[in-house]
Amino acid sequence: MTVELNGVDAEYQRWTRVVADATWRLRLGAELRKGSGAAAPVLNPANGELLCDIEQASGADVDLAVERGLAAAQAWGNLTPRDRGGAVREFADILEQHQDELAWLDTLDAGLPLWMMRKDAATGIERMRMFADLGLTLSGLTIPASAGNLHLTFLEPFGVVARIIPFNHPFMFAASKVAAPLVAGNAVVLKPSELTPLSALRMAELAQDVLPDGVLSVVHGDADIGDALVRHRGIRRIAFTGSHHVGRAIQRSAAEVGVKHVSLELGGKNAMIVFPDADVDSALQAAVKGMNFAFAGQSCGSTSRILLPESLFASFTERYVSAVTAVNQGLPWTPGVQMGPMVSAAQRDRAIGFIDRARDAGARVLAGGGVPADAGAGFFVAPTVLDGVSTDMEIAREEVFGPVVSLVPFSDEDHAVRIANDVDYGLTASVWTRELARAHRVSRRLQAGYIWVNDTSTHFPGVPFGGVKLSGIGREESVDELVSYTETKAVNVVLS
Ligand code: NAD
Repeated sequence: MTVELNGVDAEYQRWTRVVADATWRLRLGAELRKGSGAAAPVLNPANGELLCDIEQASGADVDLAVERGLAAAQAWGNLTPRDRGGAVREFADILEQHQDELAWLDTLDAGLPLWMMRKDAATGIERMRMFADLGLTLSGLTIPASAGNLHLTFLEPFGVVARIIPFNHPFMFAASKVAAPLVAGNAVVLKPSELTPLSALRMAELAQDVLPDGVLSVVHGDADIGDALVRHRGIRRIAFTGSHHVGRAIQRSAAEVGVKHVSLELGGKNAMIVFPDADVDSALQAAVKGMNFAFAGQSCGSTSRILLPESLFASFTERYVSAVTAVNQGLPWTPGVQMGPMVSAAQRDRAIGFIDRARDAGARVLAGGGVPADAGAGFFVAPTVLDGVSTDMEIAREEVFGPVVSLVPFSDEDHAVRIANDVDYGLTASVWTRELARAHRVSRRLQAGYIWVNDTSTHFPGVPFGGVKLSGIGREESVDELVSYTETKAVNVVLS
């Protein structure tokens, strides 16, 4: 994983200098200024080097962001969805002009491959435009509830929405997850992960010429800043993407200070079931794609449990191990690299802990199983495949959020469904079969919010994404998300 002295290396040097020399600022309303909290280091996970130190927000900064949001919310909410959508679309156009820069920032602080961050940036921008379009669907009802009178409903924004996001799609989430609340007529305070703040802070600067004062704030900080936002009296709607541990802490904090609307996009321990009649070659490719190695497995929808019929187990396992072993891991800005490091030393150690405990519990490591020999000071974990995993083991039940896959045999359809559902999570699932009736039957029986038949990993625009059980509350990436940033008001006009 040595850095080659080529054009890409020159680009790498250039962007690390840009990051080191930049003045990183929060956006409080429309004011760009340094955080008034303590500075925290931002590291490059591929080599452990310091990229920059950034002043975090203080509680007073959070107060200011919310106050400015409240001051702006009414005028913004009074615009038509078409006008708000127009501003969001214009913002998307500006971000598109900086797509490459934003991708580099994500590659540097998240350790994710540059080619994938370019795709991710495009996805974020596309989703902003999708929500701008969906704005025209925001409408209430007329209900024939009594004779001669009018019963109307209006979808009204909350005011200021807190948007708290994780580290694994830094820009894509920053961009796409502010779009729906904005189009629905709210001001937004966004808090990116403290591990990956760069692209969100840059996005905040790029909002200057297009979004009115107060409508979008971006604060940088850790759990305390997230909690300050959640508890703020001016915030009635919180949308969170992250782990169930933090999601539950947010529900608790929110309940301690009032009654707030909380939606949660949380983790998964997702099953991919390959039935004996499946197109095995395609399933094999999809099993690699589904583990999202480009994100070092740090993806909520990753199909980290592959359920195989006993008849296919040995041959599928052999081919899968060889495909996973071939995943090209290296420095994420290098062309041809398919997988970089994990985001932090803590996430690496957490993944290694899961692997070690699985081994101790009797699982066999068929590929990877630790830190690669040439990891240097980067936070790398080798793509890892396990078998001998029983359903009661921690590795079969808990989300690793790393590049670790378990292969699990099943005897028949009922058995497969039982294993798939026998976890506390329920985010995604993938069913592989050529039999139409089985595809429908099993999809309906699986306890998960987002199911693929003969696919993995793909998110389709407009199709509601979200989980059941420990995987969350609410649906995003669709009209459901847009509407979730409004409250229904009913007006009864008695005419008779
Ligand atoms: P995390 O829960 O540790 O942190 C997420 C965000 O919450 C960060 O911005 C963090 O600073 C903030 N936070 C931490 N403590 C807080 C508190 N007490 N109050 C308010 N905010 C607080 O998650 P992570 O490690 O950044 O991301 C990984 C998790 O995210 C995984 O579980 C993954 O499955 C999940 N995830 C889910 C989806 C989805 O769409 N369902 C998408 C991506 C990631």
